[in-house]
Amino acid sequence: MIFSPLPGTPLITQGFGQNPDVYSTYGYQGHNGIDFGVPEGTIIYAPHDGTAEVRNDGASGYGLHLVISDEKRKSVLAHLSNVDVTNGQFVYQGNPVGKSGATGQCTGPHLHWTYKICKSGVVQNKSNGYDGAVDVTEFTRLWLDQDLHFNAEYTDDAKEYLAMDFTENQYLKNTTRQA
Ligand SMILES: [Zn+2]
Repeated sequence: MIFSPLPGTPLITQGFGQNPDVYSTYGYQGHNGIDFGVPEGTIIYAPHDGTAEVRNDGASGYGLHLVISDEKRKSVLAHLSNVDVTNGQFVYQGNPVGKSGATGQCTGPHLHWTYKICKSGVVQNKSNGYDGAVDVTEFTRLWLDQDLHFNAEYTDDAKEYLAMDFTENQYLKNTTRQA
């Protein structure tokens, strides 16, 4: 189970697979993650355990960003204004790891989150049109459960990319989460 990287009710402004014409220039079939429209300085939480890598693309690409990975999965949290972990630090799900921003190539403050599934640390399904990135939209529906304390809303543009439907009681609980 992975958790929301944001507190409160994050607004998803660009869904997974959206805007294929824009992302074809990167070799993707569409947006390779989901975007949350949040003001600069919003605290970002680790969506899962892993070793943090601090990277900086400067004014291009993902800007200041964090990669959190372990044997099973990898997250990229991009366009940050600040990171609160050191390179190589192990972080636990729910730990605050940085603050959102508008660094790199973007039109305004938001958090971009790419999620990939790994096997023994190797990204799987890299030929899926998104370099192995998978749609975490379904998890945003799981956050709707109040036990997870998070709830995602969608803009009208992003709504059609919310493809998964869940029954009311279909979720996983983790009572040990920290944030
Ligand atoms: Zn994005």
